[in-house]
Amino acid sequence: MNLINSYAQLPEHFYAHTQTASVPKPALIAWNEDLAAHLGLNDLGADKESLVRIFSGSEPLPGGKTIAMAYAGHQFGHFVPQLGDGRAALLGEVVSPVDGARYDIQLKGSGQTPFSRRGDGKSSLGPVIREYLLSEAMHRLGVPTTRALAAVSTGEMVIRESDEPGGVLTRVAASHIRVGTFQFFAARNDQDALAELTHYATARHYPDATTKERPVLAFFSEVVEAQAKLIAHWMALGFIHGVMNTDNTAISGETLDYGPCAFMDEFHIDKVFSSIDQHGRYAYGQQANMAQWNLARLAECLMMLEGEQEDYESALERFQPHFEAHYFALMCEKLGLASHNKSHDELVTGWLQHLQDHQLDYSLSFRQLAARMNKNDSPVFGQFEIRWLQCIDEQPGGRQSAGQLMASTNPVVIPRNHQVERAIQAAFQGDFSVFNELRQVLAEPFTEQPGFACYSEPPLAHERVAMTFCGT
Ligand code: AMP
Ligand code: MG
Repeated sequence: MNLINSYAQLPEHFYAHTQTASVPKPALIAWNEDLAAHLGLNDLGADKESLVRIFSGSEPLPGGKTIAMAYAGHQFGHFVPQLGDGRAALLGEVVSPVDGARYDIQLKGSGQTPFSRRGDGKSSLGPVIREYLLSEAMHRLGVPTTRALAAVSTGEMVIRESDEPGGVLTRVAASHIRVGTFQFFAARNDQDALAELTHYATARHYPDATTKERPVLAFFSEVVEAQAKLIAHWMALGFIHGVMNTDNTAISGETLDYGPCAFMDEFHIDKVFSSIDQHGRYAYGQQANMAQWNLARLAECLMMLEGEQEDYESALERFQPHFEAHYFALMCEKLGLASHNKSHDELVTGWLQHLQDHQLDYSLSFRQLAARMNKNDSPVFGQFEIRWLQCIDEQPGGRQSAGQLMASTNPVVIPRNHQVERAIQAAFQGDFSVFNELRQVLAEPFTEQPGFACYSEPPLAHERVAMTFCGT
């Protein structure tokens, strides 16, 4: 196995060379065999000792050139001209023997880089466990996302609000190019670099756009569509990203950075979890708007290369119809409605209003609604339920096919914050059983798994996690 380094072949100022730190007592917490097979890395799994050395950053992978990527970004609306990988190192890339796609292999929490500023470049075990569980769950739920190949504990403590055991996550992504990567060069008025980055990103992610008459605009339109689809998926799952800064917006359309994020328990359109999002900028219901705001920042960069403002404005105007089409299609399926039209879309809105008015659990309510098709007693979900059942009965497939559709689109289990928190707290004590159980149950989110019913349940009052913190 040899890593390749196409990003490291770009001009020197796209990144900084860096070295991963050795850690005192690394131990493997998780190795994702499934993903390893997809990447053609399954042979690595045979030697657990070497897995630990490689994925703790103690031993380089053959062929790799370890770099920290440069990027800038708008954080909560404020532009920071230089961020960059401060606690991450890109080891290199592999091409999957399964789908032929190229993937980045990145260590997160592997020590300081030239972009670390005042940070230690390390990660607590908490965010490692969190990102592992959430990103893998996201993948199994069918949403584009970075993934987790491995997790190790380092045997050293990192200083956070209190001292916490350290960890390193191995993240796999279609690439780590962000809106903020474009902003880095645009802020420096470096048109050559911007052109080279755009060319690279287009060829890597949207090769069809390279053959278009106006390839930069074509690239932009592709990114707009990918983001619209992504946010629609998030919303349909009740997911709140929490920190949709431009440096956390991947050009590939994958979910990137699982910091202060959450799968909602009880539904509310304005729900915010992140402790750092005091004004609700990235509230659940704001996500489509914020994605468009981020895309407008990308447009400002690309305009330096090709096209006029109006061209980008009209490309960006297609976000909303794309988003709505995907969102309502997904939501209608979740309600067992095979087609989506105006009256079905109204049912979606009515359902959400009902959930919000009665403070009902988002994911669980869909499953409970599905079960209502087999009952003849008085409705549990009020007037909504009566209207909804009428629509179901009018459909050609009736209740049976609606039931199948709902079972395949409404997860039995999502990574709820209180369970993720439980896994983290146990891991801090050296107990990985909750983490492992969650990994197992989240691998099949649409299947009822006997013995694991507790993972479907919303939190009890004392288990409720009201806030999540930044992923450091
Ligand atoms: P995030 O909020 O996780 O997207 O990170 C924003 C920026 O802060 C990125 O440039 C990170 O590399 C940097 N950063 C976050 N935590 C650390 C850390 N512990 N050490 C160094 N840099 C960090
Ligand atoms: Mg980030």
